[in-house]
Amino acid sequence: MTGRLTPSPAFEALNRLAAERILILDGAMGTQIQQLRLGEDDYTGHGSGHACRHHSDHPQQGNNDLLILTQPEAVEEIHYRYAMAGADIVETNTFSATTIAQADYGMQAAVRDLNVEGARIVRRALDRATAQDGRPRFVAGAIGPTNRTASISPDVNNPGYRAVTFEDLRSAYHEQARALIEGGADILLIETIFDTLNAKAAIFACIQAMEAHGRALPLMISGTITDASGRTLSGQTPTAFWHSVRHARPWSVGLNCALGASAMRPHLAELSAVADTHICAYPNAGLPNAFGQYDEGPDDTAVQVADFAREGLVNVVGGCCGTTPDHIRAIAEAVAPYSPRKVPEYA
Ligand SMILES: [Zn+2]
Repeated sequence: MTGRLTPSPAFEALNRLAAERILILDGAMGTQIQQLRLGEDDYTGHGSGHACRHHSDHPQQGNNDLLILTQPEAVEEIHYRYAMAGADIVETNTFSATTIAQADYGMQAAVRDLNVEGARIVRRALDRATAQDGRPRFVAGAIGPTNRTASISPDVNNPGYRAVTFEDLRSAYHEQARALIEGGADILLIETIFDTLNAKAAIFACIQAMEAHGRALPLMISGTITDASGRTLSGQTPTAFWHSVRHARPWSVGLNCALGASAMRPHLAELSAVADTHICAYPNAGLPNAFGQYDEGPDDTAVQVADFAREGLVNVVGGCCGTTPDHIRAIAEAVAPYSPRKVPEYA
């Protein structure tokens, strides 16, 4: 669908690099932010940091995306550490930077700033890293699923009810995608997709944003398997998921979150067998323990991700929940000996 637009310069640079080797995506933001032990005043920037100019009556502690505006130095440092650990592609801290997700915090008015600044902060971090080692790096504008689903009713007594419409989602994603591009995102990454209808709204919005921009950006699409039968929350197998998004001609399709690497492997293999585009995988650091924490060390995760590479399943790998710069460094080293998956050419 983006085929009639001229590719951006970063698009071509990314293609060249992906033909040479397996590319590395960064790891979790949440784990790194938790370690900062920030309180309400840090989140709003009224204690330390930069006071947020957007007003809300809601508490902001836990609104990690807001730290882009109130603790930009800390956020930039996390991105920089991932870049120096070996990440070629670093995601913006904008997983929840849509009007729909920010409504929980009364921060809808901040959405444009969050995305523009979110992309600029990653660019700054990557430029610092590139100044040291000369390696090109790419900003991926992260687009999360929002906390509402368009496919399924949240009310068991009213199966026809929907908490959000396709048009609500399209419009919120469009605002986010345009601001990410304005801030300098090289890639748009729709991630942690549990509902394919939400993802379709995001894809449509991203393509509209690229058309407004006049250039095609690489689009990365990453689903999440939420149950043991290997389906998304909206009930699709990896193959069905691919056929639902293939029309967008994404630069990559893949899986992230919900599972550790071993449990993700069969679903990734299925996707790799059907998708005629790059494959991207960024699992969690194992499954969460009883306290919701992730126990898998860098080497444990890296060994399993290296299996994906050895089997020729992947073009891009990284980490999701519980992963750290040490995990990314270990993953980068572990996959370095292996060639990237060859992208099949189907008719
Ligand atoms: Zn995750």
